Amino acid sequence: QSTAIIIGAGIAGIASAIRLAVQGFAVKVFEKNSYAGGKINSFEKEGYCFDGGPSLFTQPQLIEELFALAGEPIQHYFNYKPVPIACTYFYEDGVVIKGYTNADKLAEELYNKVGEDKTAVKRYLQRSKQLYETTGSIFLNYSLHKMSTLWKAPVAKALMNTKPVHLFASLNAFNQYSFKQAHTIQLFNRYATYNGSNPYQAPGMLSVIPHLEYNEGVFYPKGGMISIANALYRLAVKKGVQFYFNMPVEQIIHKANKVTGVMANNEKYLADIVVSNMDVYFTYKRLLRNEQKAAHILRQERSSSAFIFYWGINKTFPQLGLHNIFFSKNYKEEFDHIFKLKQLYNDPTVYINITSKCEPDLQAPPDKENWFVMVNAPANVGQYESAMQQQLKKHILSKLSSLLQTAIEPLIEVEATLNPVMIEEHTASYMGALYGTSSNSRMAAFLRHPNFSNQLKGLYFVGGSVHPGGGIPLCLRSAKIMSEMVKNDKRGWKYAH
Ligand code: FAD
Repeated sequence: QSTAIIIGAGIAGIASAIRLAVQGFAVKVFEKNSYAGGKINSFEKEGYCFDGGPSLFTQPQLIEELFALAGEPIQHYFNYKPVPIACTYFYEDGVVIKGYTNADKLAEELYNKVGEDKTAVKRYLQRSKQLYETTGSIFLNYSLHKMSTLWKAPVAKALMNTKPVHLFASLNAFNQYSFKQAHTIQLFNRYATYNGSNPYQAPGMLSVIPHLEYNEGVFYPKGGMISIANALYRLAVKKGVQFYFNMPVEQIIHKANKVTGVMANNEKYLADIVVSNMDVYFTYKRLLRNEQKAAHILRQERSSSAFIFYWGINKTFPQLGLHNIFFSKNYKEEFDHIFKLKQLYNDPTVYINITSKCEPDLQAPPDKENWFVMVNAPANVGQYESAMQQQLKKHILSKLSSLLQTAIEPLIEVEATLNPVMIEEHTASYMGALYGTSSNSRMAAFLRHPNFSNQLKGLYFVGGSVHPGGGIPLCLRSAKIMSEMVKNDKRGWKYAH
């Protein structure tokens, strides 16, 4: 039996383990932390449950696919339900927009609240769908670094659907061209942040993202986001995958140009293939000690990071939903601070996720709410000092208190925090980037590291820092692309042992 070693039990590492186990590999996963899930983690404090990292769940079919592949009934492991409103948007001028997960209802809402042209909204979402089904399907399901991809039949269709404006205009320019109202433009500009990018730099191609929410839907996993990681971990164990926790890999070892295994705990573990779910920059720098390749990775800008306050709130707010956004007044200036000045902005867009809206008695004590309060922040370049956190908290509280017309600070009875420096430490994510690299250039998709090594046979890469990018759905796709590659490559190799 061939052996696969996976470095890291992030969502992409676990999905890779399941896929390779199904292919017949004996799979070992080495994880430096004491749990599976990486950025997906959770904690409980005084009766409040908090998801530590991701909060938005789209494309559950990618989880369903793993259970189908493994031949296990998903309902024994994982349950989820659709939510009717993707996000409730609060603007500084008092406008509130409900982002219904239905194109007609969203168009109606934007028309009623800010006078947006209904046809423009429906046309935008229709084009978003087309783009997703053509260009998106190539980008998300195949390696962009293999000649074989170019010969795939859908490539021509994808090229036909990709207009110059998708590539050469920024998302903001594309949205300005598509809509009349500033509120609508800001709402659709926000989708650049779904992969940690700047809507004033990232290409119009990112207009593909709203398709996921408004045409496909937003979902809530029972038990919160942590149940995604837990369900896949249990599935992997069921398929025979062995997990080694508190076991950081120290080195990837190789003979000539072929990977032979890893060093962990000063011991050698042999394998036919090694899959790194660790941030690709640190994989080259620490595990392969290849400074030159590590430096090469940094040619591409890192995605944004985040500051998070986990607050137990001693009150319920009926005007809030599962996902809520309180927009900054000057979005352009906010992104200039994040990406150009690399500083926190004093009127940040504030995101609040409240899972007790979906499971009131389980996620927070009765008549209370568990608030996950996040602002986008620049990647860590050594600029963060402890005083900044207090300053930021003041800005957030003043904004929320004013827009919700309630003093928020006295309601906070539990608090925990996460900042870019902690994100970097917890999951070895260079600069605390949430999504690996940003998409702030036209060539971003092609610059992202491929899912294989072109120097070492048998070495593969998955996760948010490599193709196709960050966020749970894309990480799951990286595992699929990698496993298809392994299947193909396996035909051509003679195993060393
Ligand atoms: P990670 O989760 O980073 O896991 C990598 C694993 O490798 C970690 O467990 C780490 O400990 C381990 N590791 C590192 N080095 C070693 C080593 N040497 N040896 C052994 N193990 C090692 N995505 C969404 O889809 N929706 C959201 O709403 C969303 N919001 C987010 C909010 C926050 C605050 C954060 C932090 C992220 C968010 N994301 C969101 C992004 C999403 O969480 C990530 O893209 C995804 O979880 C990354 O998974 P991954 O498999 O690439 O790696």
